[in-house]
Amino acid sequence: MQPGTLQSLLAAASASLASTSDSPRLDAELLLAHALGQDRSYLRAWPERVPAPAQAARFASLLARRQAGEPVAHLLGVREFWSLELQVTPDTLIPRPETELLVERALLHIPADRPATVADLGTGSGAIALAIASERPRARVLATDRAAAALAVARRNAAAHAIDNVEFQEGDWCKGMPADHFDVILSNPPYIAAGDPHLAQGDARFDPRSALVSGPDGLDDLRLLIPAALACLKPGGWLLVEHGYDQGAELVRLFEAAGYQDVQDHADLADKSRMIEGKRPYQGFSQAGKS
Ligand code: GLN
Repeated sequence: MQPGTLQSLLAAASASLASTSDSPRLDAELLLAHALGQDRSYLRAWPERVPAPAQAARFASLLARRQAGEPVAHLLGVREFWSLELQVTPDTLIPRPETELLVERALLHIPADRPATVADLGTGSGAIALAIASERPRARVLATDRAAAALAVARRNAAAHAIDNVEFQEGDWCKGMPADHFDVILSNPPYIAAGDPHLAQGDARFDPRSALVSGPDGLDDLRLLIPAALACLKPGGWLLVEHGYDQGAELVRLFEAAGYQDVQDHADLADKSRMIEGKRPYQGFSQAGKS
């Protein structure tokens, strides 16, 4: 292998990322392709090429930042979610592949052949809202976030993909939301406990704290959101939320205590309990009105 070729740069870079990253080879390829202004396929097609000095310098600087822990998504400025390339910044949570499960399950509750109203609460980069809107052009999606800076990124992502059935709005969970209105509400809220060591590792170090942490057990926001969302759903409408791997049982309890029916927890591809869904009953919130 000649020194300075794409092949040798990649080999050295992925070895140098072995202790920083779970995916050193992929990271090295993404950063090198970015420095060259090419696709990753270019690296495979031209392993013997030697990059121009300016490109090599760009790669060296990206690699140094990655070695210091900066997420690939921040270095590239984009992350793919549900086949949409999305702009991400330090103001937005980096979309995670496991969140695609939330989209997948929500689509089962949103008809393709007629209008539906959907809300994505705490939308961040807009990932969930835009995935749903792109799959269900007849649905109207309301995407809210407390953070104006995140909404600006989400709006740019909608414009970049010419998705026009999403409306972005500043909002704090269900505050001020209309009653009996939504067919589906979904959210990837903050759910990590304040003292969780996971916060000091990997990409989470660079995500906005407000998108990750929710009180001492991670459930402060979900405790607000679950009962409040029930009133905003139409009878028969569904709430779906992502959660941590060890929170499923407590959340089933919270969903059922709030009055949801058909409550189901779902595991992700890594077989970790990951999200929960429940339906607002048709007959009111409790047995009280049934006599
Ligand atoms: N899944 C993310 C993580 O583990 C957290 C996302 C969230 O809190 N909503 O880093």
